[in-house]
Amino acid sequence: MTGPISRRMFLALGASVVVAACNDTNASTDSAPASTDSLPPPSSTMPVPKSSITREPFTLGVASGDPTATSVILWTRLAPDPANGGGLDAADVDLLWEVARDPDFTEILASGLVTAEARYGHTVHVDATFAAPDGRGYFRFRTGEWTSPIGSTRLAPAPGSNDPLRIATASCQNWTDGYYAAYADMVDQKPDLVLFLGDYIYEGGPGSLENGDVRLHDSEEPDTLVGYRNRYALYRSDPLLQAAHLTCPWIVIWDDHEVENNYAGTTAQIGPDGEPVDPAVFTARRAAAYQAWWEHMPVRLPAPTDENLTIYRRFAWGDLVNLVALDGRQYRNDQACGDVVLQVTPACPEASDPARSMLGDEQEQWAIDALADSPAVWNVLANQTVMTDIRLGEAIINYDQWDGYAPGRDRLLTGLTERGVANLIVLTGDIHLAGVGNLTVTGEPDTVRGIEFVTTSISSGSNTPDGAEDLFIALPTIVDAELAHRGYTMHTLSAEDWTADYRIVDDARVESSAVRTWKRFLVTAGTPTVVEL
Ligand code: FE
Ligand code: CA
Repeated sequence: MTGPISRRMFLALGASVVVAACNDTNASTDSAPASTDSLPPPSSTMPVPKSSITREPFTLGVASGDPTATSVILWTRLAPDPANGGGLDAADVDLLWEVARDPDFTEILASGLVTAEARYGHTVHVDATFAAPDGRGYFRFRTGEWTSPIGSTRLAPAPGSNDPLRIATASCQNWTDGYYAAYADMVDQKPDLVLFLGDYIYEGGPGSLENGDVRLHDSEEPDTLVGYRNRYALYRSDPLLQAAHLTCPWIVIWDDHEVENNYAGTTAQIGPDGEPVDPAVFTARRAAAYQAWWEHMPVRLPAPTDENLTIYRRFAWGDLVNLVALDGRQYRNDQACGDVVLQVTPACPEASDPARSMLGDEQEQWAIDALADSPAVWNVLANQTVMTDIRLGEAIINYDQWDGYAPGRDRLLTGLTERGVANLIVLTGDIHLAGVGNLTVTGEPDTVRGIEFVTTSISSGSNTPDGAEDLFIALPTIVDAELAHRGYTMHTLSAEDWTADYRIVDDARVESSAVRTWKRFLVTAGTPTVVEL
């Protein structure tokens, strides 16, 4: 390191906050020098903490996320034996974190100490404050003789900026179904931000090569904190997924498989014996899953303190985007009508009960307020399950998505219209297909309230029947759909227009598969209309 530590850098050090360490004991470990007399020599940022770790601890890479205009969360986990609980003893471990202008770390922008706590699986979340003319920086962690991989990250632009933005949306990366070729292409595309829309892990058992899985989970279905940690460690061991986390900050929300398929609030799926699962038993499992998710994601959220975890939150990207990240799982009512699948007979009366909610009353009102209260060009919902109305008359094809919560959808979209929210874009995953839809409320099919871009799965296999493509495309709300491929969507936004480039993987069962564009769609600001380019 050649640059001297400036007073400005000193202030940046002092301003950093460790999100993972919200209690007083650990806040003190993020220590900046007490006075300029004790500044470290110009050749380094700070002494690297001593460590007794004897095996490579940075096996799961690094990540960043939840950027603001002044700071970004930096993440890593120390795990010499990632598949087996991490491999460290119960002692906490101190790390040095650094953000630099250059990948050689000659010009340090910010640094500090952080403690990887055993109680959180030796994960860390550093809220790293720094300033750079382009908002970009490189980051790494060090302890003892060990240095992490180097990540590239960036801040959001300051208010007033309308700089273009490139967002990659992704979801559904079932390990056993396929490889992550989509991420290799995403890294090449150099997005500013990745938005992960749920199903980061799948909770199922090992799978079966005989039954067509391309690789196996290394454990039975998890239901404990250690079990879920091991599952995250398996997924994060993938080099293509690690590379995508090294590329840019991510904003992550969860869907169902981070806990269990199609769970709703504290209601589990029917148990393996065909009987309902005791909500107390399921809530304990959910708490373990929520903690493991929090531990492994680069999120700007305090650690869970009880069985719940609030993850819905809002982001600003200059004056270009006001983004609201939703939680469609934790507060929803149980799926109506027994959550039947592909039902084409009229829905039971329960489905249209106005008391039913996808988001819960509090989040629903918060989301309307959060989108209404912004000068941004684009108002964006990061959303779990399909919001476009694909009901067939009185029939609901999929009770797990917003069709099963239509009164709540009507309240949300009507509320946004009444509050004057324009240029509404909903970004969605879950359903393992690529689609574009017009958002409408019940009884007003000709008034488009916004556009939904549904990204296909990174690797999870199709869960719609053969021949359904024609059925979907024939629906009046569906602009287009492609059901056969895995991939992601690359969104390019300016103050004038929004382009969605649907990148699809030729064959996700091949790790080095080619990736190409299926179609590109355009929304021009001011018009709730989407056209194919
Ligand atoms: Fe999925
Ligand atoms: Ca899902």
